[in-house]
Amino acid sequence: MAQPAPAIQDLVLVGGGHSHVEVLREFGRNPLPGIRLTLICHNVHTPYSGMLPGLIAGHYQFEETHIDLRPLARFGNARFIHNSVVGLDLQNKHVLCESQTPVPYDLLSINIGSTPATRQVSGAAENTVPVKPISRFFAHWETMRTRLLERDSPARIAVVGAGAGGVELLLSMQYRLQADLSAQGRDANHLSFHLVTSSGGILETHGHRVGRTFDNELTSRGIQIHTNHEVVEVRNGALECANGAVLSFDEILWVTTAGAAAWPASVGLDTDEAGFITVSDTLQSTSHPDIFAAGDIATMVDHPRPKSGAVAVRQGPPLAENLRRHSQNMPLRRYTPQRDYLALISTGNRYAIASRGRWTMKGKSMWWLKDWIDRRFMNKYSDLPKTERID
Ligand SMILES: Cc1cc2nc3c(=O)[nH]c(=O)nc-3n(C[C@H](O)[C@H](O)[C@H](O)COP(=O)(O)OP(=O)(O)OC[C@H]3O[C@@H](n4cnc5c(N)ncnc54)[C@H](O)[C@@H]3O)c2cc1C
Repeated sequence: MAQPAPAIQDLVLVGGGHSHVEVLREFGRNPLPGIRLTLICHNVHTPYSGMLPGLIAGHYQFEETHIDLRPLARFGNARFIHNSVVGLDLQNKHVLCESQTPVPYDLLSINIGSTPATRQVSGAAENTVPVKPISRFFAHWETMRTRLLERDSPARIAVVGAGAGGVELLLSMQYRLQADLSAQGRDANHLSFHLVTSSGGILETHGHRVGRTFDNELTSRGIQIHTNHEVVEVRNGALECANGAVLSFDEILWVTTAGAAAWPASVGLDTDEAGFITVSDTLQSTSHPDIFAAGDIATMVDHPRPKSGAVAVRQGPPLAENLRRHSQNMPLRRYTPQRDYLALISTGNRYAIASRGRWTMKGKSMWWLKDWIDRRFMNKYSDLPKTERID
């Protein structure tokens, strides 16, 4: 007598972030029996955060800094749906997309990242350029660069937010634009650069020594730092600050603290006060055990960590392992993230500053180390083993 076909489970990955690229690679290397895998992402090319400042500075090409999700999904035996997820029907277990029929799931994993929070400050969304989504920012950057280089009068450029992302971005933009001006035989001081932050210092989550080192670097490169300037309103070209100052600029980029998409909280998933999905040590939602989350969109309730690509990358292997175990009704493994990471922050000019805890080191060699680590990461997802690849 014919045996009934084994039930197929639908595992849906929402977002092609740093953790899901590892899940796809892992399932390509060790296929999951009885699973139909689907990836839904609104980008075909997903950016690798570590190399974005180098892309802006002109050290890398677009393809070197983005993972093409189509061959990676094929390698992972996943179907790829190029669409934006707008919600979930938790009752009927469907993923709701912007322009696609609902996608059913038995098991779901969310790795959609974050975007700089513009909602809290009036006028920020309308009058500044958010650095994420990166695909939109990169297009804007190219237009902004052309506009600035065609201009005859001086221009003032500001970045709001003095975390690693904001500082790296500002230094990279300055390096690129000054190189462009020199190539045109023009005065590099035609453009002035400003960093605006509500805090009393810069890079505050990285410790005093790193903050001081970057303070010196920015000052020596003529960048003006406006600390204790909490922006409360943005009008066309002007930042109104809580201390009464009004700062005027020609270009304003918004790189403040990470904010969460609204839909995870609105559909009824447990979230923290900022709207990030709360997960346990197994990376499972604290309210829905058939839903996992990783990267910026997830907050590990017992091990909160700053939102960073490094954290998202490291969550990839335990996420893949627990999705596999969950689908096979095996006990899940607990994961404890590292307390601190080696941070390699570049200064735009092929120079970087490394820090871990209280230890710091700087120099061209730190840039080469960062470049080597970043390229090795990218090769893992673009140089897929041909023998196992399904085309
Ligand atoms: C300028 C800058 C520089 C930075 N440099 C560093 C660095 O050097 N090192 C570091 O560790 N961190 C860095 N960060 C932080 C880092 O970018 C984030 O922490 C990291 O990208 C988070 O990874 P993730 O996997 O959670 O999500 P992401 O990398 O943001 O990936 C999310 C994916 O999901 C997709 N997606 C989003 N929403 C939806 C949706 N609704 N439907 C479908 N798909 C969706 C996106 O298109 C994207 O492909 C930097 C940030 C900035 C702004």
